[in-house]
Amino acid sequence: MKKVLVLEDEANIRSFVVINLKRAGYETIEAGTGEEALAQLRRNPDIKVALLDIMLPDDMDGFEVCRRIRASDSKIGIIMLTARTQEMDKVTGLMTGADDYVTKPFSPAELTARVDALYRRTGGDVEVDSGEISQPPFLLNTRNRTLEKNGQRVKLTQVEYSIMKLFMDNPGKALSRDEILDTVWGRDSFGELKTVDVNIRRLRIKIEDDPTNPTYITTVWGYGYKWGF
Ligand code: CA
Repeated sequence: MKKVLVLEDEANIRSFVVINLKRAGYETIEAGTGEEALAQLRRNPDIKVALLDIMLPDDMDGFEVCRRIRASDSKIGIIMLTARTQEMDKVTGLMTGADDYVTKPFSPAELTARVDALYRRTGGDVEVDSGEISQPPFLLNTRNRTLEKNGQRVKLTQVEYSIMKLFMDNPGKALSRDEILDTVWGRDSFGELKTVDVNIRRLRIKIEDDPTNPTYITTVWGYGYKWGF
């Protein structure tokens, strides 16, 4: 899965960023301080893009984190999160080795567009480029958000599409109902786990050969569901 590090000390901004990146198909690793961010990068060497807030409460600010990351990793993509009043930060941020910056407040579309672009440039997987995830007999088109089974269009709601995207990004992985709810509906949606079950039941009717004996979306008892092949 496509991993992005999110360093931001303000919890509400961080969860806004995380929710939107998850919706766009990214796995997010969160950090609230510079030290935490560096530790997470050591634990997750497969992180391809890091979002770094500049103003942090501790000794280490976003620039310093950026410098330290660059000292040992030239390939990772780095986007600085700046406040509007920090015009100088943009310049300094780019000089310390950041690839891009996003100015707060930013829209979800702007944020994911920047991350997508940088992810592609840093040699992420081809899924973003092609706009398709092919797992025969299924073909998911991520540009126009459609699903085909054996070349036949399967009509999905936006929520069902998002569930399919989550499954097809994570083949063979058991996903908890909480994880599905958070990713598809968002962490602050106050959604209920039953909603997940209802949507899965509907999805099975649409995509399974025999919905009473599902083979694509299997149940992981007491936990959640798995896109199984
Ligand atoms: Ca901050």
